[in-house]
Amino acid sequence: MAPPAFKKLSGTAVSSKTQCNQALVASIKPSPKIKQQPTLSSVDGPRILYWFRTDLRVHDSPALDHALSLNPSVFIPIWTWDPHYVYRARVGPNRWKFLLESQQALSDRLTELNPKQKLHLIREAPQTVIKKLVKKWAIDVLVFEKDTDAYARERDENVTKQIEELSRELGREIKVVSLMGRTLFDPDELVKRNGNRPTMSMAQVVKASQQIDPGDGGRKGEPKKCVPLPESLPNPLDKVEMDLSSDKDFQHEVPEDSPDVNKGQRGLGKDKDKHYVSVAGPNNDFAIVTLEEMGIDPKDAMSPHKGGEKEALRLLKKYIDDEEYIGTFEKPKSSPAEFEPQSTTLLSPHHHFGTLSVRKFWWDIQEVFAKRKKAGKQNAGEPENMPGQLLFRDMYFGAQAALGYAYAQTQGNKVARFIDWHLQSNYSKTPVGEHLLDGTYNVDNEEAEERFRRWKEGRTGFPWIDALMRQLKYEGWMHHLGRHSVACFLTRGGCYVSWERGAEVFEEWLVDHETACNVGNWMWLSCTAFFSQFYRCYSPIAFGKKWDPEGHFIRKYVPELRNYDKKYIYEPSKAPIADQKRWGCQITGDGTDRGTEEMAKYPKPMLDFNEMRQFCIDKVKAAYDVGLYGDDEKVMSGEWKKIFGHKEGRTNKDEANGEATKEMKRGRTPDGYKEDIDASGGIGDDEDEQPRKQRKAYMKAAKNEKGKQAKIDVMVTRRRPNR
Ligand code: FAD
Repeated sequence: MAPPAFKKLSGTAVSSKTQCNQALVASIKPSPKIKQQPTLSSVDGPRILYWFRTDLRVHDSPALDHALSLNPSVFIPIWTWDPHYVYRARVGPNRWKFLLESQQALSDRLTELNPKQKLHLIREAPQTVIKKLVKKWAIDVLVFEKDTDAYARERDENVTKQIEELSRELGREIKVVSLMGRTLFDPDELVKRNGNRPTMSMAQVVKASQQIDPGDGGRKGEPKKCVPLPESLPNPLDKVEMDLSSDKDFQHEVPEDSPDVNKGQRGLGKDKDKHYVSVAGPNNDFAIVTLEEMGIDPKDAMSPHKGGEKEALRLLKKYIDDEEYIGTFEKPKSSPAEFEPQSTTLLSPHHHFGTLSVRKFWWDIQEVFAKRKKAGKQNAGEPENMPGQLLFRDMYFGAQAALGYAYAQTQGNKVARFIDWHLQSNYSKTPVGEHLLDGTYNVDNEEAEERFRRWKEGRTGFPWIDALMRQLKYEGWMHHLGRHSVACFLTRGGCYVSWERGAEVFEEWLVDHETACNVGNWMWLSCTAFFSQFYRCYSPIAFGKKWDPEGHFIRKYVPELRNYDKKYIYEPSKAPIADQKRWGCQITGDGTDRGTEEMAKYPKPMLDFNEMRQFCIDKVKAAYDVGLYGDDEKVMSGEWKKIFGHKEGRTNKDEANGEATKEMKRGRTPDGYKEDIDASGGIGDDEDEQPRKQRKAYMKAAKNEKGKQAKIDVMVTRRRPNR
């Protein structure tokens, strides 16, 4: 691509190609009182600082394309080693590995485009370092991809403000440009077209997107077309100019390492924090951080899933070349028990880190669809098909963009139904009075805490659940329906533990963790938001059996059961003792004692599933009847405890028979339980195991509510309109 002619920055003029994006360009004008200083680079083109974050690619990057279209005289690609992710967000070894591989791959790609180029790792918080870099390197334009994640938005606003101040201070124009490229549609646009409300259903996403003009000659409702691949890159500054270590005015600020929620992962304790030793790394060469520098033992990062743009494009090609797979893909029909290869694409971590453009994925699929249509072949329909999956992703981004931090927690969250789960989060009050998670939770019930711990460690005594959780821990990924199973089991279909606990474990272990999607799906699965058919549960036995009657998946991830006959593989505690011994694994204990090599031990089921399912259904129904949401004063103030008769330390059984439940059961019919469809996966309940009669009764009550059945997939709550 020949970049369009650069027009000298004058506050409004940007390259003609990107004028449609002008609204996103923060033009920072110098204060009229300050005499303008000449810009060092304005003769040849601007000096550009390109800040990579979750866009670790060079293909189809609108922000990168824009930066290059400005004909930069200097182009410095950086990544800031943000302590927020290092210390405050939960990130396990597998995701670190994926990130580092992706950074290295990007750096190599930049070098391919210009041997003088690479990704420059800056080991300091963006909030303290970007302004200093802009000043030191006399940058004219800071460019990055727009990010609507709550933390990212706050961070970017902070940095933009600082650049604004710097611009006034220096008396020269410095621009900040951010362009969307993470999703099919700009989440803020979706929210705007959805009446400034969070997007809570697929129908809303589709309707909102149909009002958005892509601005590139494409049709409304379609994402923007991909931008061309860069063919070359301008140089960075020379080595001497780039050097930060010799500049006495450039103070390296080592970030605060406490609290460190990832402390437990720094097994190589003594090496901890080497990553922040100096701003450009130990050799002053802006090198990519290593796991060892972070105190993480590489042996703890066992995931076979590799990061990097090259790998993402290889995977994409593999799927796109398989036209039958792409054309007929329907998520609810993909098996959660398949591995090596898995039944879905496993492109999610690449979408998270931006090593694959979601728009490229979308448009490549459309090409396959068009080809098949021409050949008279039928393609699967939305939302179960592949583009439908990407629309679900956009739905969650839209919900998060509208709600900010509140989206990822119960308190203050206007779309989250309040359910009196065990192990609820603790909150701290910020100076502005918001309730924000403080990273801890309230152990109100020891039994629930024990179940949560066993769920996390994959020793529940339900082999299907344990296999999935071990797959997650060791490999950092789990099929969508597997995620359904374990999330339902932890919350409304087994343990009655808060969805927030589960979301935290996923945050730590998933290689594809994406706050918008993770939180949204956890709310969905726990019937807190998006979905409300709480009377339909996944059986931890029958659901897996349906997909994998032989138990191959269990044998792979729970190897102590590998010799079990298929008759008992899902319920090993039912196997006769003699057989247990013969197959080399006794079913006993709580799973902490793994036994010996000759005779392994695997636990008995930690709960009676049928009993707990009933308990959960009754409790969730009662909470629906009470009808509180996360932003209700009674939730924020803790008054809910009185309403629900919640007492600390009670066992589940006490509660089931207690005052609270009786109180809540009084009088109301289940209204507003909608017939929404989970087209991202499936309902997943098993007819044989489900108490059919009761389910029918709930459904009948739901249908009869004011004589109308709720419209499919319309999730916006009826009780509290305009949320
Ligand atoms: P495919 O089926 O091949 O789908 C293609 C792409 O569509 C995915 O790569 C992903 O980007 C997107 N996608 C598919 N399903 C969903 C969905 N339900 N929600 C959002 N995007 C979707 N996905 C994440 O990307 N990050 C998360 O942190 C995350 N946490 C989840 C937590 C729970 C409890 C559940 C039930 C689901 C979660 N998902 C999350 C959604 C989904 O499970 C994964 O996106 C999917 O399994 C990734 O595998 P894949 O790439 O093979 O998906």
